[in-house]
Amino acid sequence: MSTMAHDSGAKLVAPTLSNDCFALPSGVDWTPVDVALATLREKLQPVAATRVNSVNAASGLILAQDVHALRSNPPEPNTAVDGYGFAHAALGTPPHELPLVEGRSAAGVPFEGAVAHGFALRVLTGATLPKGVDTVVLEEDVNTDGARIAFNGPIKPNSNTRRAGEDVETGEAVLQVGRVLTPADIAILSAVGVGEVQVYEPLRVGVLSTGDELVEAGTPAMDGQIYDANRPMLLAQLRAWGFEAVDLGRAPDDRAKLRAMLDEGAAGCDAILTSGGASAGDEDHMSALLAETGSLALWRIALKPGRPLALGIWDGTPIFGLPGNPVAALVCTLVFARPALNLLAGAGWSEPTGFLVPAGFEKRKKPGRREFLRARIRGGKVEVFASEGSGRISGLSWAEGLVELPDGALDVTLGMPVRYIPYGSF
Ligand code: AMP
Ligand code: MG
Repeated sequence: MSTMAHDSGAKLVAPTLSNDCFALPSGVDWTPVDVALATLREKLQPVAATRVNSVNAASGLILAQDVHALRSNPPEPNTAVDGYGFAHAALGTPPHELPLVEGRSAAGVPFEGAVAHGFALRVLTGATLPKGVDTVVLEEDVNTDGARIAFNGPIKPNSNTRRAGEDVETGEAVLQVGRVLTPADIAILSAVGVGEVQVYEPLRVGVLSTGDELVEAGTPAMDGQIYDANRPMLLAQLRAWGFEAVDLGRAPDDRAKLRAMLDEGAAGCDAILTSGGASAGDEDHMSALLAETGSLALWRIALKPGRPLALGIWDGTPIFGLPGNPVAALVCTLVFARPALNLLAGAGWSEPTGFLVPAGFEKRKKPGRREFLRARIRGGKVEVFASEGSGRISGLSWAEGLVELPDGALDVTLGMPVRYIPYGSF
């Protein structure tokens, strides 16, 4: 913008808008995404305390210790099918005929005693194999008169049986520290007799919105006001990740008030996400306050959307000062806060699983920064939201994930494989 005085006769010329207006200023050091990530990974470590937790209630919690099997799975050899068990070595050439011994072996009610060489025993799925039985023939493959069975061979030794410890042996390492326990993990822990595990306390993550313009959805809004979208979004995302989300409310653009809210937040949280006020403008109190602590690192990340990320430590608590723009706030949360919080929580560094999907869109991408596009898969192709406008919250909601385009220039053509990361993979 020109502020030069001009004589009234001179024509006022509007500045030319280049379609390059977001081009990176030359000579300015933008932090590449990978450098920012590597820095976080290097600087952070687990901060959460640990506790003993019942396995029944441990799904979603993070192991603070390696776990070893207290018992083998299966603990004893057993049958994988309903059928008849015998010693394979007693078989001659097929067809086979074996006399039955009295009784049976069922799951939980094993046969007492041994099965004599050359005899067969009725066995039911999951039943322990008694002494003298190493092989089982499927009941569908057998004819019986109640006293004998007849079947055709050949049958391999140990058919239809499970070896003791074939899945896990007693003492074997089952799961490692840092594991975020899944329902399947709960199954294997239980199966090998582990009823309690050492876990990290869920990370308490505070969420604070900043800005004089913000009001709470569901209440009246006056001219100039907008509803706070970031705080509810971030709280929901943190809960979905299994963290303990702490609502720290909305701070006005007032340094003293913001300072007090950060004091309170830091006292009760292991980490804090703030949104808004993260740049270096007049009302960017977040970065200004973090600068006062001497811990501010204002990252100008070569990333679209969401460039300014203000990182700092407040009374020992790490703060992620996210951009105010909801699209940028979510992208920065997914890309940076997620792996950082995982590290703080004890789950180790995490990288999202993306996969290549043919592009259902075209785009000419300029070099200089990584781009994340709001995307979803339909008909085997990944489509992107019609507008890249960073204020388009509806596009965040329309999308089911992000397309990640590399830092360099790229001409995306229809059908070209591009990296798609579902929201749920972050
Ligand atoms: P700031 O980073 O504070 O300059 O904010 C950038 C843009 O994001 C402005 O248009 C803000 O009004 C908007 N914004 C900031 N915080 C929020 C929020 N919590 N919910 C919705 N929009 C926000
Ligand atoms: Mg603001």
